[in-house]
Amino acid sequence: MARITNPRQRTTILYQVMELNYLYSKALDLIPLTTEEGLFLYEKAPLEELMFTGDLLRQVHNPGMNAGWMIDRNVNITNICFSQCTFCNFCRKKGSPDAFTTPISDYIKKIDELFALGGDQLLLQGGMNPDLGLEFYTELFSRLKELYPALKLHALGPPEIVYLAKKERISYSEVLQRLIAAGLDSLPGAGAEILSDRVRKKVSPAKATSEEWIEVMKVAHTINLPTSATMMYGHIETIGERIEHLVKIRELQDEKPHGHYGFITFIPWPFQDEGTVLAEKYGIRSSYNSSDYIRLIAVSRIMLNNIKNLQSSLLTVGKEVAMLSLHAGANDLGSIMIEENVVSAAGAHYRFGAEEIQGIIREAGFTPVRRNQKYEFLDK
Ligand code: SF4
Repeated sequence: MARITNPRQRTTILYQVMELNYLYSKALDLIPLTTEEGLFLYEKAPLEELMFTGDLLRQVHNPGMNAGWMIDRNVNITNICFSQCTFCNFCRKKGSPDAFTTPISDYIKKIDELFALGGDQLLLQGGMNPDLGLEFYTELFSRLKELYPALKLHALGPPEIVYLAKKERISYSEVLQRLIAAGLDSLPGAGAEILSDRVRKKVSPAKATSEEWIEVMKVAHTINLPTSATMMYGHIETIGERIEHLVKIRELQDEKPHGHYGFITFIPWPFQDEGTVLAEKYGIRSSYNSSDYIRLIAVSRIMLNNIKNLQSSLLTVGKEVAMLSLHAGANDLGSIMIEENVVSAAGAHYRFGAEEIQGIIREAGFTPVRRNQKYEFLDK
């Protein structure tokens, strides 16, 4: 390796190393890093150092070598959506020949399959269909719980709550309380994308603003509804906006009442561009690459000093990257997700069965542990 002889260059490098070491030490003491510090780490830190720090922090939050996974099933309530986000290749306009709203008979078939495979949770997502109001959802949830009392419903997301509150002219709290009374068990962090209105105006202009997303989550945390936080990145956002997103999630988690669930996990996944308006019309391709994903996982673990679980998106990044993520701060590979239609409609084609996901975790040097949505271990 060539020696650096330029004194100014040497001083700059020395300061950078000192600054990085200071930030690693601050992170390991679980002291929150500022946006500027997070950005500095993301842009300047060597990947192996970030991974090392992320892994140490993973062990602080989740001692040992367990890595979680679960069995659940995605059912899409409807693909009709007025939002027409430019990254979405799943939604259809009302009246489209392939528009659908899932009939109850399909739920029954799918839930029977889910239980036969040992799972008990439905992830219910879909579009914001202007014909479906709060009553549709409460009746659907009640019916499903009546038929399957042991079923868990991880359903909708902040944009749907905002939409339903506006449609019914009631508060977020009332929407959530009525959904909970009907059978909602937990609220996915769907629709966060990047919590920056500059970005949202371009990728999801008709959807909840970042303030609205945050407000719904605040209410969910106050009434102690378990939630998750997500990030869909790699489209038009800057690295700074990724870090700001993490800081907003952390600050929101800090505000949750003591002892409440808050965000149980954080799950980042890359934009899937296949057939999307962003790619086809605006030429914006996914900026995903494996080392950047690992970097994001490590920086997320470092920035989110108050969220215990960090899930790597096996479904979108595949086996090798998911395995590496477990050595960079992630402690979970998510679900085998029996059916998934939203990200797979835009190019995520990875599929894994129960044996495979456990094999991947073992191959990475961890012990697979099946868990539920609250990240409680079920068996080993
Ligand atoms: S991402 Fe969700 S809200 Fe946006 S268009 Fe697709 S289904 Fe609708």
